[in-house]
Amino acid sequence: MLKALALARPKKRLFLGLLLASEFFVALALYGLWLICCPGLENIFEYLPAIVGIFLIVVSTISFGAVCNMVLAVKGLPTLKLFHRYSFALIKLLFPVAVRIGKVFGIKRRQLEGSFIAVSNLIFMKSGIKVPAKRLLVLSPHCLQLTSCPHKITRDPNNCKRCGGCNVGDLMKLADELGFTFFVATGGTLARQVVMKIRPQAVLAIACERDLMSGIQDVYPLPAVGVLNIRPNGPCNNTRVDMDEVRRVLDQIIDKRSDGR
Ligand code: SF4
Repeated sequence: MLKALALARPKKRLFLGLLLASEFFVALALYGLWLICCPGLENIFEYLPAIVGIFLIVVSTISFGAVCNMVLAVKGLPTLKLFHRYSFALIKLLFPVAVRIGKVFGIKRRQLEGSFIAVSNLIFMKSGIKVPAKRLLVLSPHCLQLTSCPHKITRDPNNCKRCGGCNVGDLMKLADELGFTFFVATGGTLARQVVMKIRPQAVLAIACERDLMSGIQDVYPLPAVGVLNIRPNGPCNNTRVDMDEVRRVLDQIIDKRSDGR
């Protein structure tokens, strides 16, 4: 049952398609606005409409290039590094528009966020990033801990007794075995503080769609890969994670030949 919940993964083309549609919509809106403003701009300075027009064309071309770059990365084709840095800024800007367009077609925000994570993970994996276990930070949400567990693990996950009641114990065992740093964060602020303190080379984050979406963008340019939690009891309550998936992702990103120095 848990496996089935974990395997219901969203399609990557959903996010990319809606991002492209948003891009088109915003470009069209900007063009309309430019046309309306042209007479006023001309009154200020003869060449101002042309200057503003060129600026808008450049911005639109860069953002269109950033979306196309993501499509190329997903398809496994060569990409232009120049556009990488604009990708997340563009997503932040266009995502609210994509959500509204998606609503018209009955696509839920969570589906779109899940699709973004699938795209981001694929780009991460295709970039061939490998880090020593010591430089990898694995972050999990507090809701993964059994609500009835009396042990305080949010400041020090070593307080977990590995009783098998929840996946925190499984992740602790895996951290002992592979050597990565494991931390349980109560929220985005604490997660960011941990990243600042530990300064890892990569992050594997376990969370819901919304938290992964913002977290992956927040830690950029630090490479981050996300694993969705499973919520058989509803959001934020005794959540689970597919440990096979976590191990599979770890196998791909941990550089086993390096000792981390
Ligand atoms: S595995 Fe650890 S965190 Fe989970 S219930 Fe047992 S002691 Fe508590």
